[in-house]
Amino acid sequence: MIGMSRSKKARGRVRTYLKKNDRVQVMAGKDKGKVGKILAIDLKKGRAVVEDANIVKRHTRPGPGTQGGIVEKPASIHISNLQLICPKCTDPVRIGFKLLEDGKKVRVCRKCGEIIEPASK
Ligand SMILES: [Zn+2]
Repeated sequence: MIGMSRSKKARGRVRTYLKKNDRVQVMAGKDKGKVGKILAIDLKKGRAVVEDANIVKRHTRPGPGTQGGIVEKPASIHISNLQLICPKCTDPVRIGFKLLEDGKKVRVCRKCGEIIEPASK
């Protein structure tokens, strides 16, 4: 499972504002323009798996508990090819950061200024 390790001093992590469950648009590749939810994110590799995007077909052999055949599943996409969608603009937007009074750092849409909260689901 990727994205589960939470070491405090993670090295080689990619800096990104993207989080799991964010709605993003694919900006490059065969699924350019596709919108989906981030299902998993790997900050070490700088890649994310986006729902219904970059679907690859995997041939699997029949084995214990599996019938085998062709399985379609989303493959990861480099996060530089993903852009967060502002819930207010409903467009892929550039993201800035804002420090709230309580010291919390939030993501804001550079276009409309809306705070973009990480989705809980
Ligand atoms: Zn916006």
